[in-house]
Amino acid sequence: AIGWEKDMLDLVGDEGLLLDAGSRTRLSKDYYWYSPVLEPKLREKLADGVALPSTEEELVKVLSFAYRRSIPVTVRGAGTGNYGQAVPLQGGLVIDLSRMDRILELGGGTARVQCGVKLGTLERRAREAGWELRIYPSTFMKATVGGFVCGGSGGIGSVTWGNLWDGNVLEAVVYTMEAEPRRLVVRERELYDYIHNYGTTGIVTELVIPLAPRTEWMQSVVQFPELAWAVQFGETLAADGSIAKRLVSPMEWPIPAYFTPIVSRFQPGEAAVLLETADGTSEAVRRLAEDFGGRIGHATEAAEYRKSIGLSDFTWNHTTLWALKSDPGITYLQAGFSPADYLEQIRMIKAAFGSEVLLHFEWIRSGGVLTPSSLPLVHYRSEERLYEIIAFFEQHGVRIYDPHTWVLADGGRGEAGSMSRRKRLNDPRGLLNPGKLTAAPAEGEGGAAHGHG
Ligand code: FAD
Repeated sequence: AIGWEKDMLDLVGDEGLLLDAGSRTRLSKDYYWYSPVLEPKLREKLADGVALPSTEEELVKVLSFAYRRSIPVTVRGAGTGNYGQAVPLQGGLVIDLSRMDRILELGGGTARVQCGVKLGTLERRAREAGWELRIYPSTFMKATVGGFVCGGSGGIGSVTWGNLWDGNVLEAVVYTMEAEPRRLVVRERELYDYIHNYGTTGIVTELVIPLAPRTEWMQSVVQFPELAWAVQFGETLAADGSIAKRLVSPMEWPIPAYFTPIVSRFQPGEAAVLLETADGTSEAVRRLAEDFGGRIGHATEAAEYRKSIGLSDFTWNHTTLWALKSDPGITYLQAGFSPADYLEQIRMIKAAFGSEVLLHFEWIRSGGVLTPSSLPLVHYRSEERLYEIIAFFEQHGVRIYDPHTWVLADGGRGEAGSMSRRKRLNDPRGLLNPGKLTAAPAEGEGGAAHGHG
């Protein structure tokens, strides 16, 4: 008995609230189990109910009810996050926003969408209209626009357009958690209080995102005897303004050996760079590859784009997914190598850890700077060993965005200090996804006395 279930059913009806154990279990989880550190800590966390609003009016009713009863609220898009962002640490209500999935406007270089639209759907619709997404995570077929903006960082396209903080969100409609939830329209710098907020500072119902003109993309694998050459080739290609691209992903062998469905496309023993470049660039890519001692391996013509499994399904954190399928003992890190010293950093890490740590990179343009970002694979031994590896990376100037914590302020992305101030204004009772913004005791993150950041 949770006390409020009957009153809430009266408010939203059977259609709007799930109370069965199966639904509550399924909708209380995300992909936190990629982390052996998080898995045992989050396994048992369970919502008391799951609300399914399909309009802003229904959402407001649910929020207002939860506020009056002081029920914690965790919102959910598709639940593909990796750090337990969408797991309700204190039970209460999960609000599944996947029914709010209307594309409201599309054209002229922007899309206005409800938060629950799937990125894959939006990409398809945009391309039909002569546009395409600028950036999207490798989970785009499932992930929602709201979940990406509130829980993600970047992805395919970030090599050209940067990540979420680089002008890739133009406007957000946000609801506050109060007796009478306020509807805020947020733009420009203020968006930083909501991008990657894990739903702790407000609930985003609508987003305006910029689009790029549609490009025809071809995919190719470029092979190199050495990882260092592959990463340098990737940098030069990424910097070359005459070759349009949305993916430049260098990786060391044996990572491609994990890619069971396409393993025959790779040369065993060699480093590889997975590319999506504009149709007609294959000659330019080949010449550049040769400059760095590489050669083009398997390629897929633009006419075949997305007709079968694509290279991007093996990049970003999909690399971890394929590795985990072959070897459940693997986990990963999130790392920002130095644009100036990455070769030395790679050398030190490989010398120290050998095959215990396997490196792959995504060249991205972060804040305008071409950066080798990485999601290294780690053969997991213990939490202690994992944090030794993290300490080594940090000692050598590699920034770690720890994926083994659900606490936003510890994971290192987003603007936790400014978000804490915003949270006090928008969520005075500290009910929005409690425990995620800071690790403060007793959910002090909502309390007026807390001066974090
Ligand atoms: P959810 O997991 O449902 O939510 C994410 C967070 O946002 C949660 O804290 C949730 O409470 C909050 N939230 C959701 N909707 C709202 C809303 N409307 N208002 C306020 N808060 C909200 N991420 C990347 O950035 N790039 C990648 O390339 C990438 N690759 C991945 C590959 C794999 C195999 C996996 C498992 C994950 C990957 N991720 C990646 C992480 C994740 O898939 C993405 O960030 C995705 O965009 C999250 O979308 P979602 O709809 O599943 O969000």
